[in-house]
Amino acid sequence: METADLAAIGAAAASAGARMVVDSTFATPLGQQPLAHGAAIVLHSGTKFIGGHSDLLIGLCVTSDDAVHERLIAARTYQGGTPGSLEAFLALRGLRTLPVRLAAMERNAITLAERLRAHPGVAEVRYPGHGAMMAVIVHGGASAADAVCAGVQIVVPATSLGGVESTIERRQKYAGDAHVDPGLLRFSVGIEDVDDLWHDLAAHLPA
Ligand SMILES: *Cc1c(COP(=O)(O)O)cnc(C)c1O
Repeated sequence: METADLAAIGAAAASAGARMVVDSTFATPLGQQPLAHGAAIVLHSGTKFIGGHSDLLIGLCVTSDDAVHERLIAARTYQGGTPGSLEAFLALRGLRTLPVRLAAMERNAITLAERLRAHPGVAEVRYPGHGAMMAVIVHGGASAADAVCAGVQIVVPATSLGGVESTIERRQKYAGDAHVDPGLLRFSVGIEDVDDLWHDLAAHLPA
């Protein structure tokens, strides 16, 4: 949950003759528009916030460059990767409520980030101030973080994110995230009642 300076990276890429590609899944299309900062392609896992209900697998690739668009269409046509009609329908239906879901998630996330930061069992909260994703590092390392995931009753211990239900996972156990703090929990905040979420977490945080 560190933030990147897209404008600076876009300018550096342009001066090196490189194209900038941004995976904007966590920010959602409402949180940032990387094409405006020089990205050639923006990727979204539509499985997450755009679908929003943890019942869809789909990916999106967005560009404003006609040449890139043509190459992407050719790759899709010759290599496959065309979404099924049900997946396309679910993504479109999800998009219709993205603004209201995200607003509710963000309200919850702002409140929970504040309360978590004030909790003695929490070493650090990384929350960029908007959106629904945060990293929460608890005192006590892997075993304390695992205890949170094992104990919660409302928050769902799961890898996926961006759904209406809150999900949480200790990330360091995965090879790709082996560099993060052993006590780091990735927390995707849903639209549940914020006090329900808080009591669920607080009951299992280290004292
Ligand atoms: C989940 C995720 C992906 C992969 O998307 P799938 O739809 O699960 O294949 C890529 N990037 C980010 C940031 C993700 O969270």
